[in-house]
Amino acid sequence: MLKLKLDNLLKRFIKGKRVHLKAVGVAIVVILIVICFKGITGRDGSVHARTEIDRESTVSKTVDGVEDASPQVNNTQVLPVAKKGETIMNTADVKDKANFYAVEFTEESEIFTRIKGKSYKDNCTVPLSDLRYLHVLHVGFDGKSHDGEIICNKYIADDLLEIFEELYEAKYPIEKIKLVDEYDADDEASMADNNSSSFNFRYISYTTKISKHGYGLAMDINTLYNPYVKTVNGKLSIEPANAADYVDRSKDFDYKIDEDDLAYKLFIAHGFEWGGSWKSSKDYQHFEVPDSVVKTLYK
Ligand SMILES: [Zn+2]
Repeated sequence: MLKLKLDNLLKRFIKGKRVHLKAVGVAIVVILIVICFKGITGRDGSVHARTEIDRESTVSKTVDGVEDASPQVNNTQVLPVAKKGETIMNTADVKDKANFYAVEFTEESEIFTRIKGKSYKDNCTVPLSDLRYLHVLHVGFDGKSHDGEIICNKYIADDLLEIFEELYEAKYPIEKIKLVDEYDADDEASMADNNSSSFNFRYISYTTKISKHGYGLAMDINTLYNPYVKTVNGKLSIEPANAADYVDRSKDFDYKIDEDDLAYKLFIAHGFEWGGSWKSSKDYQHFEVPDSVVKTLYK
């Protein structure tokens, strides 16, 4: 009886052990499966995590990049947006592209409506595609910053943007830079108001030759203080007529352009010629591209 009991117990023990072993085996398999599964999801999860970290670091890099770049290009800088019939040209070597930029424009553009029949006369032989609208900043006679608008030939657009940015940075005073169209394309009225401008289609008096302003290949600066002086039929002609006080260049006065002047130096450095160097007449306000360039561009 006892033996039987012992036998039974032994059998049960063995059976129990088997059960236990089975259980252990199952447990190991389960653990292995869990480990494997965890391993896969872990790897998978870690890839995701890395991706997210990467994405985060990319984002933060971008944010950092913007923050880094901001002080150099000005926090409030908003780049110009092209309007109907306009294309922003971005080739000039300027720092402040938000304020010193060129626009190519078509007849669809609002810019064209401002110049049509005025500086861009109906007989204008210069294609609109050769002209550029420039936006610049300048320091006025009040010492404050002002917007300036210029229409010029595409050939000198980048030069003018670079020159005007340097003048602005140097706080070189220029009273007004408006389109001559605001004076109904009347040069005398624009000059008398000391306005600085470039394009105005016209022929040189008594000829069929287009003036350099007619091509937008010349620029006048502080016109009242730097008049165009010539002798016509033995009589002194001064343009603008109200500039008599500024004809004598040996006198010392503000806004006088001479060879020590920054505008003079910059225009010369960009390949322009100065009207103050002419022999037969003197155009102290005037900078233009050499004749050879005009002949090459407009045969
Ligand atoms: Zn001129």
